[in-house]
Amino acid sequence: MEWSGKKMNKKLRSLICFALIVVISIPTISIVFAGKPDKGPIEKKVFIHRVKPDNPGKPPKPEGRGKEWYKYSGIHWASTDLPVTYVVDDGLDLDVIVTSFEIWDSETSTELFFEGVQGEATAGFLDDTNALSYGNYPSAGVIAVTYIWYNGYTGEIVEVDTLFDTDYTWGDATGNPDVMDLRNIATHEIGHWMVLDDLYNRPARMQTMYGYSTYGETIKRTLESGDIAGLESIYGE
Ligand SMILES: [Zn+2]
Repeated sequence: MEWSGKKMNKKLRSLICFALIVVISIPTISIVFAGKPDKGPIEKKVFIHRVKPDNPGKPPKPEGRGKEWYKYSGIHWASTDLPVTYVVDDGLDLDVIVTSFEIWDSETSTELFFEGVQGEATAGFLDDTNALSYGNYPSAGVIAVTYIWYNGYTGEIVEVDTLFDTDYTWGDATGNPDVMDLRNIATHEIGHWMVLDDLYNRPARMQTMYGYSTYGETIKRTLESGDIAGLESIYGE
């Protein structure tokens, strides 16, 4: 009995201690927030690129059509953050990723990205590094995922990461239609770094920002009229 009483006392003391710590911390926390009124809550936007085996090959491009095919959410890079730096994980082909960034960067006079560096990086975590890496996303049928963390008040981007799912065999599909083409998927995902959203309407299926892909697909390696129109509407020609 005595022992359990002691135990109770100990529990009670721990509780009082905890309550005191909470009460003491509240004003401190408030001061921290009050001191940085511009720091809004960090919110996360996640773009999940799914597989769709019946995605058709590139249809013939009708001249002058497709200009309307882009979508922009308003999340943006702070102009003071440009050009943005990014790290390509050691396991990922640096040249392919750099080429995929450059195809976007070459369509606007604004310099958006420094050339990426190779290093150790893990996508999917808010860690002050804009990272691209292979990784295993828990759901099936997901080819790649791009995460954008941004300030919920200002819409300014805090960090962007892209994960390429190891459920798939990656490579260069121009020589082997049985692989997931890294450059094809990277060019689409980097469109999200440009802050363009996915398109799911069938008529937009020729655009790089179309939200589905499949093994052997390479049509997203090049930008189409909607992708370029979207980019220019955000960053200028
Ligand atoms: Zn996407």
